[in-house]
Amino acid sequence: MTTHHPDLSTLMSYSAGSLPDAIATVVAAHLSLCDHCSCHVQEAEQIGISLLEQLEPTPMSAGAKDDILSMLGETTQAAEPAKPEPHVPDDADVPSPLRHLLGHYLDDLHWKTMAPGLKQFILPAAESNLRLLKIAPGTCMPSHGHTGSELTLVLRGSYSDELGRFCAGDVADLDPDIQHQPVADTHEGCICLIATDAPLRFNGLVPRLLQPFFQL
Ligand SMILES: [Zn+2]
Repeated sequence: MTTHHPDLSTLMSYSAGSLPDAIATVVAAHLSLCDHCSCHVQEAEQIGISLLEQLEPTPMSAGAKDDILSMLGETTQAAEPAKPEPHVPDDADVPSPLRHLLGHYLDDLHWKTMAPGLKQFILPAAESNLRLLKIAPGTCMPSHGHTGSELTLVLRGSYSDELGRFCAGDVADLDPDIQHQPVADTHEGCICLIATDAPLRFNGLVPRLLQPFFQL
């Protein structure tokens, strides 16, 4: 049962296709787990479609269609036959929008130890602003603020910070002015998917010195 969702403005930007790739990937993963937000996005898309339908049609020049098709790289060749959907094991714990990047199981990833109780996996995506953190039970993250937006989706376990308790499926949609110090809950480690559009801003001297090595 999710209780923390992306801001409505984030969902609207997602449906308009205007979010950075890393942030949009986290929203897509949350939508695969949250009917509540999926409904909001569908409504926003319907509003966008009806706005487009109200636009007056504009006549196109004679060569416009060919120009557009060549821009899209479209050819006259027949489309390739659709590939069959790969089999998904029943116990897969990676949300469907992430499986092409991560496979099916979080435990199969090559986690890199960053500090005691903290492991990281940077996603093999075009943008390096998307990472997974695996935080051991009870581990306290360094207090930090942000120079941009940060969107975090809990995939396993839970953590608590100044904003509340975040469990699997919950999203923390953080503005640049929010300062927080997440602590993984004690009964189970926490795995989070985190997208940032700018580097984090640590307060303590040691975390600041280590930041270039953490690539945070
Ligand atoms: Zn939601």
